[in-house]
Amino acid sequence: MISQSSSVPSVPLPQPQVMPAVESGPMPIFTMKPASKGKPPTHLADLDQAGRKKAMQEAGFPAFRADQLSRHYFERHEVDPEAMSDLPAKVREDMVAKFLPPLLTKVRDLKADKGQTIKSLRRMFDGAMVETVLMRYPGRATLCISSQAGCGMACPFCATGQGGLTRNLSCGEIVEQVRLGMVAAESGDLAGGPTRVTNIVFMGMGEPLANWRQVQAALHRIIEPAPAGLGLSARNVTVSTVGMVPLIDKLADEGLPVTLAVSLHAPDDELRDPLIPLNARFKVGQLLDSARRYFVKTGRRVSIEYALIKDMNDHQWRAQLLADELNSRGRGWVHVNPIPLNPTPGSIWTASLPHVQQTFVDTLEAAGIPTTIRDTRGSDIDGACGQLAAEVVNTSARAQKAAEAAERVIAAVSGEANEGKMSSVSRDL
Ligand code: SAH
Repeated sequence: MISQSSSVPSVPLPQPQVMPAVESGPMPIFTMKPASKGKPPTHLADLDQAGRKKAMQEAGFPAFRADQLSRHYFERHEVDPEAMSDLPAKVREDMVAKFLPPLLTKVRDLKADKGQTIKSLRRMFDGAMVETVLMRYPGRATLCISSQAGCGMACPFCATGQGGLTRNLSCGEIVEQVRLGMVAAESGDLAGGPTRVTNIVFMGMGEPLANWRQVQAALHRIIEPAPAGLGLSARNVTVSTVGMVPLIDKLADEGLPVTLAVSLHAPDDELRDPLIPLNARFKVGQLLDSARRYFVKTGRRVSIEYALIKDMNDHQWRAQLLADELNSRGRGWVHVNPIPLNPTPGSIWTASLPHVQQTFVDTLEAAGIPTTIRDTRGSDIDGACGQLAAEVVNTSARAQKAAEAAERVIAAVSGEANEGKMSSVSRDL
């Protein structure tokens, strides 16, 4: 431990450079191919309003029941047929069984930060696990949700990335995390009494843009007012991505002014290449250009996420390079969120020292970039950023799957032909 006493030199000494490395074998490839295990049951939250009316009629109920049931689910967060007194008693149970099948079953909740943080582990229909974290702050409550079981991006410092991708979540499974988080907050599960979820961050397990179609639908469900959706403010919803450039552009076109967070972690390709496997496909410059386009199109200030890792990416010259890269694309369009690295089990890296972190922040601020250190809520229950692993302990097998599927998703949404296998991305270190 280095104290912040007067022995700390005022002019920072040159720092060593540590590079990411895996202990043995090749660096994992990234993949978006989910294991095929069938689909979760279709849920009201999977459908838009037209789809709900149609499904209601197909099930033999009048179409207007769709709005009634939607109000129970999206406005009152209710799934108990007993409480749905405006629906005929004899059809309530059938309707709920058909349209509100249980998608997430509680496995356990873990509390931290004196009860102000709750991590929930839940099981899905096929046994896959998903984690969601609810956090209370003064004046707001934030729910950190997962978009995939596991993650295919294989970032070596992130616990979720080590287990590989199990599968994409359905829209219903994503929205159910939000509804359950809202119920928990409203019923006073957090210390401090009942409250409301005000903010949603897609910073749990998974790469949200790799599950674009379901995340896109879920965003509509989260933001649209009842009976269509849960009615949260778009500006309080953050989608965090490792940098799937064509999909950042798709998100910008969606007309939902959500906040975009870009997990950059290095301002230079030399370091970002080994740190973020997807950087082999989309380089820092391309990524920052797309982040800037997002700002121009939506008017929403972009967040740059930067996990500070000791001697790896925390050099003052990197802070300056980051500031230069951001400022060269304009002023006032971006802010930086450094996050002290949350060490994951078996991690070979550690968080930056406090004075190094401070120098990093000061350098950015001196260059006119608003910078806020992100807290590490829930780190003692493995509930902080990058720690969610949902008890998946399977390192290499899934990470070996080809990156073709990732490329196919990108090609499909960017209008390229879905032909041709793109080369897989792997690197021997
Ligand atoms: N896949 C998405 C969202 C999930 S991770 C993304 O990469 O943005 C949410 C944030 O936590 C990301 O910024 C991610 O880079 C960061 N993160 C991952 N592992 C971390 C760790 N060990 N310590 C701190 N932050 C971490």
